[in-house]
Amino acid sequence: MTFVVTDNCILCKYTDCVEVCPVDCFYEGPNFLVINPDECIDCALCEPECPANAIFSEDELPAGQEEFLALNEELSGVWTNITEKKDPLPDYEKWDGVEGKIQYLER
Ligand code: SF4
Ligand code: SF4
Repeated sequence: MTFVVTDNCILCKYTDCVEVCPVDCFYEGPNFLVINPDECIDCALCEPECPANAIFSEDELPAGQEEFLALNEELSGVWTNITEKKDPLPDYEKWDGVEGKIQYLER
C-alpha cells in the first residue's frame, strides 16, 4: 500500500509533506511532488500535513484521481528526491482548489 499525491498539489507544491516522511520518499518536479510507491511505508503521516489535501491512500483515491497512482510511480523514478521544506510556488494561493490541473503538469 502506498500514499499518492494528486491533482491539487500541481502549481502549489507547499512541501509541508516532505518534512514528516520517515523514509524520505518524496520526489520533486517543476510544479508537482510525487511519492515513490516502492519506498512509502504507508505510515499516513504526510496526509494531514498537506494544506492542499492532495495526499490520499491508494485505496481511498477520489473519483477521477486514479491516474495519479501510475503517475507517482513513473515520475518518482525520474525526479529528484526532496527532504526539506521550501517556499511554495509564487501563485500557490490562486491555484489551490482549481480542478483539472493535470493539464499544467510539467515533467
Ligand atoms: S504538502 Fe501537499 S501540496 Fe504541498 S507538496 Fe506536499 S502534497 Fe503537494
Ligand atoms: S505515508 Fe508515510 S512513508 Fe508514505 S509518503 Fe507519506 S509520510 Fe512518507
